[in-house]
Amino acid sequence: MFEAPKLVDDLNVTLARYAVFGHPVGHSKSPVIHRAFAHQLGIALRYDAIDAAPGTLATALSRFAAEGGVGANITLPLKSEAFAAARAHSARAKRLGVANTLAWRGDHWYADNTDGEGLIRDLGDRHRIDLRGRRVLLVGAGGAAQGVLPALLDAGVAKVTITNRTPERADQLCDWVGDPARVQTWYLDDLRRAGDFDAVFNATAAGQHGEAVDLPFSIANPRTLAYDLSYGKAATAFLAWAKTAGCAYALDGLGMLVEQAAAAFELWHGQRPDTEPVHAQLARESRG
Ligand code: NDP
Repeated sequence: MFEAPKLVDDLNVTLARYAVFGHPVGHSKSPVIHRAFAHQLGIALRYDAIDAAPGTLATALSRFAAEGGVGANITLPLKSEAFAAARAHSARAKRLGVANTLAWRGDHWYADNTDGEGLIRDLGDRHRIDLRGRRVLLVGAGGAAQGVLPALLDAGVAKVTITNRTPERADQLCDWVGDPARVQTWYLDDLRRAGDFDAVFNATAAGQHGEAVDLPFSIANPRTLAYDLSYGKAATAFLAWAKTAGCAYALDGLGMLVEQAAAAFELWHGQRPDTEPVHAQLARESRG
């Protein structure tokens, strides 16, 4: 894998500390990604994975700052707590009410959310896909769906239809975004009557549990983009569905993961890494 920069013990100097907080957190690829970015740009840092149980993040962050922590990535299920623990917020974090990136500002944490930017950059910069005017189906209504919905609208999609196993959550998400001309909901069981879509985003956690969302092939056409926010094994079932449905693109969320990390890295270090080699390496590894 990537050659990691030497850590604090090897160099006998105090390095700026970064970490991803989650629960669980052992599976996170963030340490590998950020160490690779730092190595690429010649930045010496220490990056750890820290498990924080729900309800303990604010305390864990205070301890981390006292120990030299200056930047944090936040993963499930702590993104709301991260937002609450920060004293200042970016406009996009405020809009969402959840944060995936924190930067220490001397005496307080500043919160940002780079998930939506990660998705749009993966599609636009890596895959050269223009979302303007597209009719989108968003499957799922949890944190990830909420995180990307404003970014999809900002990218100029024509219409977003939200569908979810629990329909009330789809309605809540629709009400929350407050754009009735462009956002509507549809029952998952009734998708056969919904026609086809230019893009289908799977933002469910079904694949994480080894399950699959039952989607009809009629929602796809030969130009449809199928994108699973999950990656690796968790995306297998949806990508297989997309290929059988004849979608033009069947992409997983690894690119989004790398791009949201790059946006966090830029916030912390003021430099944008080249994401391509890191994405390529991770993609090779996930193919085994
Ligand atoms: P949440 O727990 O907030 O939401 C889970 C969603 O999945 C809900 O809509 C839930 O429906 C639905 N769901 C779960 N199981 C099933 C099932 N068996 N069938 C149908 N629907 C199901 O999780 P997140 O929204 O935070 O995460 C969703 C996925 O997105 C995860 O796999 C995560 O890894 C990925 N993600 C990827 C990122 C990236 O950078 N690539 C960034 C963020 C997330 P219901 O409301 O009915 O429970």
